[in-house]
Amino acid sequence: MTQDLVAENRRLREQLAQLLAQAQQNQAILQRHQAFDLQFISADSFRELLHTVFHTFATSAGLDVVTLCLLDPDYDIRRILVDLNIRLTELPHLLFMQEEAEFGELAERLAKPVLGTYAEQLHGRMFPEPITPPASVAVLPLIRHGRLIGCMNLGSADGARFAPNLSTEFIEHLASIVAICVENVINTERLKHIGLTDPLTGVNNRRYIERRMLEEIGRSRRQGYALTCMYIDIDHFKQINDRIGHQAGDEVLRGVAARIKAELRLSDALGRFGGEEFIVLLIDTEQADAINVAERIRLGIAEHPVMLINGDKLDVTVSLGVAALESPVDGGAVESVAQALVARADQALYKAKQAGRNRVIAA
Ligand code: GH3
Ligand code: MG
Ligand code: MG
Repeated sequence: MTQDLVAENRRLREQLAQLLAQAQQNQAILQRHQAFDLQFISADSFRELLHTVFHTFATSAGLDVVTLCLLDPDYDIRRILVDLNIRLTELPHLLFMQEEAEFGELAERLAKPVLGTYAEQLHGRMFPEPITPPASVAVLPLIRHGRLIGCMNLGSADGARFAPNLSTEFIEHLASIVAICVENVINTERLKHIGLTDPLTGVNNRRYIERRMLEEIGRSRRQGYALTCMYIDIDHFKQINDRIGHQAGDEVLRGVAARIKAELRLSDALGRFGGEEFIVLLIDTEQADAINVAERIRLGIAEHPVMLINGDKLDVTVSLGVAALESPVDGGAVESVAQALVARADQALYKAKQAGRNRVIAA
């Protein structure tokens, strides 16, 4: 009898220890899952999210390769990447598709994660050259509002890692978090882009230029390079509007913006500052070189009439004021230095107007 009790007691203790171990293991898994969630959720830009997916997550989940494929039928997302200066060639793990049909055989199975041994036919598109194809694969559909927005592809060199019969509860959860995060960062970047772009001309707006100027002044001080500001104003624009109408005036604004842009380097910043006024920041450019660029812009506009939609050609001229950041004389708070720089360029512009327009004057 006593022996029975002892045995029963031991069995119960063993059961309890097992349950405890199981609970601890579950707790650890839960914590690990929560850590993954946090990694994704805390990324607040496209660049950061991509880094989290391809590096942080891949490493902490012990995966050999992770790719992300996004459906981008209207090139919306790719355009945002260009604006963010993110070059696609730097990101071989980021893939784009025009339409669902490109998923091939995967398309109809993507209501749920697709797990299994790597097969070129099925998964090749998700791990293109120069990526080494993994041994086993999990393709997780990213779904938002009932719509497939892409897929995240986990690859392991371990052929048994993603067995088809594995429970997919965790990776389904992961996919839903990643889908939300992808949608979020794209929307955020889109908003940022809209908030910094002039809708009429497509060049940067005043907010962008003001912000960029503060950054560039700081950087030019730290790194000791020259910075020049150009203030450009269309001559007699009021008359143009009065003569040919406001809408055609808008076409002139677009045409002038495009001409200015054509003369600049990628690193320079162009923005529409007000009605028919533009500001250009020339990075790492001495005043003498800036004057040359200004002269090129002036000539480019004066010598090429703007083509209007109705087929008419219109002669347009601009006046330009150029001012260089006078470091280290330009000390003091970055904000007041920026204001003074624009004011000096504006004064030079005023002199160009006084002197008869269609000319460049340096402060
Ligand atoms: P100046 O040679 O001295 O610069 O003469 P101006 O006529 O260009 O100068 P002013 O600043 O008096 O006129 C600017 C005009 O630009 C007045 C305004 O109606 C027009 N304008 C401002 N914003 C827009 C716009 O978005 N579209 C159009 N079509 N016109 C605009
Ligand atoms: Mg003006
Ligand atoms: Mg004007």
